[in-house]
Amino acid sequence: MQAPEEIAKAIQAGDRRALSRAITLVESTRADHRAQARALLRAVEMPGKPALRIGLSGTPGVGKSTFIEAFGLMLIARELRVAVLAVDPSSARSGGSILGDKTRMDLLSRAPEAYIRPSPSRSTLGGVARRTREAILLCEAAGFDVVLVETVGVGQSETMVADMTDAFLLLLAPAGGDELQGVKRGIMEIADMILVNKADGDLKSTAVRTTADYAGALRLLRKRPHDPEGYPRAKPVSATEGHGLEEAWVDLTTLLNWRQAQGIFDQRRAEQATYWFRQEIEEGLRSRFRAAPGVAQQLARLEAQVKTGDITPEDAAEQALEAFMHAKSGLA
Ligand code: GDP
Repeated sequence: MQAPEEIAKAIQAGDRRALSRAITLVESTRADHRAQARALLRAVEMPGKPALRIGLSGTPGVGKSTFIEAFGLMLIARELRVAVLAVDPSSARSGGSILGDKTRMDLLSRAPEAYIRPSPSRSTLGGVARRTREAILLCEAAGFDVVLVETVGVGQSETMVADMTDAFLLLLAPAGGDELQGVKRGIMEIADMILVNKADGDLKSTAVRTTADYAGALRLLRKRPHDPEGYPRAKPVSATEGHGLEEAWVDLTTLLNWRQAQGIFDQRRAEQATYWFRQEIEEGLRSRFRAAPGVAQQLARLEAQVKTGDITPEDAAEQALEAFMHAKSGLA
């Protein structure tokens, strides 16, 4: 095993294999791997100019991979280096992977300025949120200018991605008024930009109308303190024809430059770091609780007693926690 400092240097020098191996390391749940991952995250140096961490969400079929391919190639043409990471909470259950399909983002995946990391398979999935956040940090240390984090629109994952990125894009399909209601208010509130895709051919006029509907819905939201005038905004795009992509990038950088100038960019990152610190503690407590000697047996026994009504749930929980505290003090 290489020293963390050496791996960090290789990543920072642009060694992709080192980056891929490092991401595999942060995906592992093994205790010794976790320790190595922490040492690595400590050793990597963040670039002077931060990468722009961009979250992108949308339901299957809306055109996420087509959009990322076109958007990524456009960024490369602007001499920016792009990393793409996938968050796929469903892969934990199905063993599938939204980026497992090699035909997705074919051109982008072959571009030397891009790095695409598929979602891990079930066996390596150790806490979707943690591994994504750590993979973002590693890509940033590797010097990518933009880190795109893609997620399928399934409830919780958007919020999670918004909590680890600097801006959050929502990709939507052209639709009638009914479907507008289908977008949850919570998602509208975290979206910094809504892009209505497939604004081409027969769908163009519907897309333009849908965009106006969403723009109206966004205006109804209270103005957010972290936004300049005119944000959050909705725009039509066509991933296949490449329309609106340049504008989307200009809008996005305008927003992020404004936030940087106001100190909001750094403030959000600081808040996100605090949030993840708390999350790590909660997850750590949970896994240590379950792994503590004797606790598992106690839990089984107490659960049986709760079921039969021999003990109240409150007393059972207290006993389980006490068993954990004893186990810890016994170890110390
Ligand atoms: P994902 O599941 O969100 O990644 O969606 P895909 O990128 O795989 O696209 C789903 C389907 O929509 C494919 O058949 C694409 O060719 C099509 N599609 C994607 N973007 C556009 C677009 O801008 N215009 C049109 N007309 N079709 C698109």
